[in-house]
Amino acid sequence: MNILVINSGSSSIKFQLIQMPSEALLCSGLIERIGEKDAILNYKTNTVKLQQTDNIPTHKQGLNKIVDLLLDSKNGVIENIKEIEAVGHRVVHGGNSFSNTALVTPEVKQKIQEFAVLAPLHNPSNLEGILVAEEDFPFAKQIAVFDTAFHQTIPEKAKKYAIPNYLYDEHNIQVYGFHGTSHKYVSEKAIDYLQLEKSKIISIHLGNGCSMTAVVNGISIDHSMGFAPSNGLIMGSRSGDIDHSIIFYLTNNLGYSLEEVNNLLTKESGMQGLTGSNDLRDIEKEAEKGNSECILALEMNAYRIRKFIGTYAAAMNGLDAIIFTAGIGENSSMIRKLVCTDMDFFGIDLDETKNDQKSQELREINTISSEVKILVIPTNEELEIAKQAFQLLN
Ligand code: ADP
Repeated sequence: MNILVINSGSSSIKFQLIQMPSEALLCSGLIERIGEKDAILNYKTNTVKLQQTDNIPTHKQGLNKIVDLLLDSKNGVIENIKEIEAVGHRVVHGGNSFSNTALVTPEVKQKIQEFAVLAPLHNPSNLEGILVAEEDFPFAKQIAVFDTAFHQTIPEKAKKYAIPNYLYDEHNIQVYGFHGTSHKYVSEKAIDYLQLEKSKIISIHLGNGCSMTAVVNGISIDHSMGFAPSNGLIMGSRSGDIDHSIIFYLTNNLGYSLEEVNNLLTKESGMQGLTGSNDLRDIEKEAEKGNSECILALEMNAYRIRKFIGTYAAAMNGLDAIIFTAGIGENSSMIRKLVCTDMDFFGIDLDETKNDQKSQELREINTISSEVKILVIPTNEELEIAKQAFQLLN
């Protein structure tokens, strides 16, 4: 069965066509800068690698381009649209409604729309991807895979906020947790690699959005993001944890509107607010040149991660492994070093030579004597979505 996986973001669409159950990747690609005149399309198969710059004003036109490429007589990988039997969609917020993958129905779309209030950067474009795919792939089953689903196991003591009970009971204000597809994928890989029957693992997902999950025996028991994907770690342009009284100070004393505060905390804060860039590669280059703002921002970023490691080691009463994953976690030896240095109290001991080696494979970067394994595991949210869609249909 061929499953097309779509991760439709606010200005991008990532896609992979995966044959299941063999997990063979037929093609993959990414359209960036949708809505701008110079949108960039990258497309790769086993034999072709191409990049085009084009005017792609909408997601609909983006997805149409992808369909054209899949069917293209020279570069395509299928001959007929019917060869795609299912489309798996990443959906960020599923609230309390989805502890599992769901076949898309009008009710499911309604729920995704409702939860857009809680994930305004993500759910509207996830839904847009579903609506366009329903038109473009009328013969395929549409399946939604939720980032929040993996965290439905978080116990009440960790998911409730200390605010009046009726807000939890009647309004579902609680920790939901995000990046679940990635945390599930890499923690399962780690358990498989470590061959542990019982395990206590911390999964650290560092991309544009960043989050950490405490995983006991494969089950999420706590997570650094909460009601929306905004708190916890310092991210590309999101602040992560701040004292909520700052919001009142900004509105009551500095004249910010609530919309401006929201914009400030989600789009102008994090590494962007601290350094002027949200791209860690640029920040590292500047830090290497001695830029003190960038050096401090990297230290702050790693310090926050270290604090969560301590929190989760205490919550789990032990630690077998930490996992670094996603764009920064997989590639930034600098962040990994800042996080793992002077952590011998926790039994974490980094092998700097191994840390500096580049690889696309699962790898262990701790010393032989380290009590805790430090793993770098490339995430593959698309494959996880295809696996879950396949499971649902079978
Ligand atoms: P998302 O999927 O959340 O959009 P990614 O997982 O692709 O994000 O991660 C994006 C982040 O990864 C960016 O901050 C980027 O700078 C960082 N990144 C990518 N490659 C490298 C690298 N070689 N070294 C350091 N950081 C990197």
